[in-house]
Amino acid sequence: MAGKIIVVLGAGVGGLVTANELRRKLGEEHKIILIDKSKEHVSYSSALWVITGARTIEEIKKPVSRLLQNGIEFFNEEIQKIDPANKTVKTATKEISYDYLVVSLGVSLEPENIPGLTDALKKNACNFYDLNGVLKARDALNNFTKGTIIIMVSALPYKCPVAPNEFSLLLNDYFTKRGIRKDVKIKVCTPEVLPMGGNGPKTGGIVKGLMESAGVEYNSQHILQSVNADRNEIVFDKGTMSYDLLLVIPPHKAPKVVVEAGLAEPDWIPVDKGTLKTKFDNIYTIGDIAKIKLPGEWKQGVPLMLSKGGVFAHFEAKVVAENIANEILGRKERVEYAGRAACFVEAGFGKAGLAQGYFFTAPTPDTVFLQPSKLLHFSKVMFEKYWLSESSLFRGIMDFIMEKWGYGEYKRKVK
Ligand SMILES: Cc1cc2nc3c(=O)[nH]c(=O)nc-3n(C[C@H](O)[C@H](O)[C@H](O)COP(=O)(O)OP(=O)(O)OC[C@H]3O[C@@H](n4cnc5c(N)ncnc54)[C@H](O)[C@@H]3O)c2cc1C
Repeated sequence: MAGKIIVVLGAGVGGLVTANELRRKLGEEHKIILIDKSKEHVSYSSALWVITGARTIEEIKKPVSRLLQNGIEFFNEEIQKIDPANKTVKTATKEISYDYLVVSLGVSLEPENIPGLTDALKKNACNFYDLNGVLKARDALNNFTKGTIIIMVSALPYKCPVAPNEFSLLLNDYFTKRGIRKDVKIKVCTPEVLPMGGNGPKTGGIVKGLMESAGVEYNSQHILQSVNADRNEIVFDKGTMSYDLLLVIPPHKAPKVVVEAGLAEPDWIPVDKGTLKTKFDNIYTIGDIAKIKLPGEWKQGVPLMLSKGGVFAHFEAKVVAENIANEILGRKERVEYAGRAACFVEAGFGKAGLAQGYFFTAPTPDTVFLQPSKLLHFSKVMFEKYWLSESSLFRGIMDFIMEKWGYGEYKRKVK
């Protein structure tokens, strides 16, 4: 059998899982190449813990090369061009041909799309979706003694719809422990109707209830227009709101390189929800950059979309790796992603809840919410360890445990 070349773009959650799974399944005659402009993998699912002091920045990142199985070639370069017609990928120094391409390039953060937001980010606002902003937010919180903090979702869709909500719960814990909770107003402002809309209305209602019990003000359906950095004021469609500290999730877009390749239409890359195949032969797309329509609708004519999150990227990566490996090895079996996933919701005070279930059900995703407990917080920590683990044995044990816990159902056999 002639050796094949599989190129994986992006060494975030989706790319790392794909490359490692493929290496496990395929012999050395097949080449696996991973490309990322960053030398380090950052586990953003632990970023909020850095802000509240439970982790250091060093604890949530690792060199990509240390997270890879032996026998994966890693190129630390920016991808400049993807050429589906000629099956090549270009960086500044290389042109690489591929037989299979897996795109997991995540999102590009675009604060400049909101008038005034870039100026605000130079003052009392922090973009906590990037590492510099995480450090700025940590320091700003350290010095914060009194006033109003607003956690703001600038636009939809955004990755990890849990993040703004669990951040508010972690801030409740943080200021309670510092003995100044009564002096700090915590607000969340978002265009969404309910927290974690992609999980269905039941889970959204429960998470909103948790926030209300923690004294967090949840401002739904607030469409951001602009920010006035001099006045510390946000302009929404519904009026203005003042802040002393603004914690921002900026607008997201697909990276330019996939738009130029004709993969994105025009914002995200549409894929088949089971196979993660794009419209191009042998190109798969997973993770945040993929657009997966769900069977239900928000309102007439507006389809629900699968949420963007590390857990989805993780399970999609496994499906894609299994199918590519089976095809290369001449095996008939194929699997498809079944929409199973789970999202931890950090609740503060050492506890986490869990929204888990099936996201491809109609008319809305069918998820249940497990109430916050110390055991679930520990489970989230184990997931953090998985994504930052240098040991394939540890990852194998975690896979086994997840399978026993019901997560084997993330895929189903194609008949
Ligand atoms: C604060 C925060 C908290 C979160 N918490 C959770 C959580 O608790 N649970 C959860 O499941 N998810 C969480 N997420 C979301 C999770 O981090 C993402 O959904 C996940 O990383 C998506 O994986 P991905 O592979 O699609 O993209 P990413 O992990 O973003 O990886 C994309 C990679 O592509 C690289 N890249 C992009 N463009 C280029 C280019 N042109 N050339 C070369 N390289 C390029 C980037 O450097 C990056 O390494 C959180 C995110 C944030 C910001």
